Amino acid sequence: MKDSNFLKEMNARSVWHPMAHPADCQANPPTIVTGASGVRIRDIDGHEVVDAVGGLWNVNLGFSSDPIKAAITAQMERLPYYSIFRGTTNDTVIQLAEELRDFFEPDGLSRAFYTSGGSDSVETALRLARQYHQVRGEAGRTKFLSLKKGYHGTHFGGASVNGNANFRSAYEPLLAGCHHIPAPYTYRNPFDETDPKRLAQLCLSMLEDEIAMQGAGSIAAFIMEPILGAGGVIPPHESFMPGVREICTRHGILLIADEVITAFGRTGSWSGSRHWGVQPDLMCTAKAITNGYFPFGAVMIAEHVAQVFEQDETGKANIGHGYTYSGHPVGAAAALACLEETIRLDVPTNAAARGAQLFNGLQALQQKYELIGDVRGGHGLMCALELVSDRAAKTPIDKATIGKVQDGAYQAGAMVRMSGANLIMSPPLVLTETDVDTILTALDAGFASAS
Ligand code: PMP
Repeated sequence: MKDSNFLKEMNARSVWHPMAHPADCQANPPTIVTGASGVRIRDIDGHEVVDAVGGLWNVNLGFSSDPIKAAITAQMERLPYYSIFRGTTNDTVIQLAEELRDFFEPDGLSRAFYTSGGSDSVETALRLARQYHQVRGEAGRTKFLSLKKGYHGTHFGGASVNGNANFRSAYEPLLAGCHHIPAPYTYRNPFDETDPKRLAQLCLSMLEDEIAMQGAGSIAAFIMEPILGAGGVIPPHESFMPGVREICTRHGILLIADEVITAFGRTGSWSGSRHWGVQPDLMCTAKAITNGYFPFGAVMIAEHVAQVFEQDETGKANIGHGYTYSGHPVGAAAALACLEETIRLDVPTNAAARGAQLFNGLQALQQKYELIGDVRGGHGLMCALELVSDRAAKTPIDKATIGKVQDGAYQAGAMVRMSGANLIMSPPLVLTETDVDTILTALDAGFASAS
């Protein structure tokens, strides 16, 4: 392999990175990751750390899942690609759909529409939601509601329902008819409400208010993450998602659960919707569906929604949507093996136990470091620290200081992710008690180096 400095120069010359300023990447060369095993990644200088990011919230089973690797290799040998556009299918996608149907049976979801990633899944769900209403004879239902701070990927539909200006402003104008309500974000909210239950009720009343404002008959769907992820790990009060479900049902609005992060165990439950006891109408999945080893996703569809499409006799239910890689057989093989491993290893149980350990450890760190304004988590293995330069005033931290904490933690043995003023942790769900200790010790060192 070429040496580190040479590769960094080539990277600066030829690669543009997602979610980064090109000049910043040139000035601050990214870490070159050359290998990974178990829950650890290794860089070109031979430094090895626990990956507390889990790839990008997706490597739930770690980097050494041999059954998934073997399934990918075998499928690649047998049928490396064929499309499932009208007229052809393959045995691997059929078997996967049956397995997903069993897996999501408690969520009331029984059909799979395959995609090649999370943004594709969101786009698919938004389109199917509009089409569902057209098929039912309510073509006026075209608008979408969502949460501020929500993240739904980068296609124009997803960007339009995103609730963070960073992912929107450079790409305006976005889709018309997308409206946002406040998220149940206890640390900062327009109502200065610090009680999670009361805040959930306030946000629900804002949803009712927005529906009245827009007119229920103009709204196709409400899309939400069961726990806001990229927006900074914001778990709502347990009453929130059931409240959303009830309001959507009452107004004939579809509920889309964006479970690109939360499906398959991350919250300590098999799905985020199940975590809150809710059955969505459509569910977006991707990421951990293949453990990150192959780009793939699926939108899961509720039986009652499927029935509307399948019983249509007007032709309106023809699905004029799909991707070259919808139902890629290698992705489907990876997903099949991944699902089997996810169940065999009972990953939500470990996610819940290690998640509690991590959350408690982070709370202890907050006692020690003034920079930690808020600690969020407590539902499986998704946690965030929101950093501030002044705790009383909740002044958001500057980029240089949070960068120092992240670098210090990396040097001391853990990769954590910086997102705005947050440090985000979403490690593989198979990590051990010792791995969690390593993350906490590394963060401690990171804060010590920046304080
Ligand atoms: N929805 C959610 C909730 C996500 O977290 C993400 C990715 N972080 C996406 C959609 C988009 O997924 P992808 O990056 O695979 O397109």
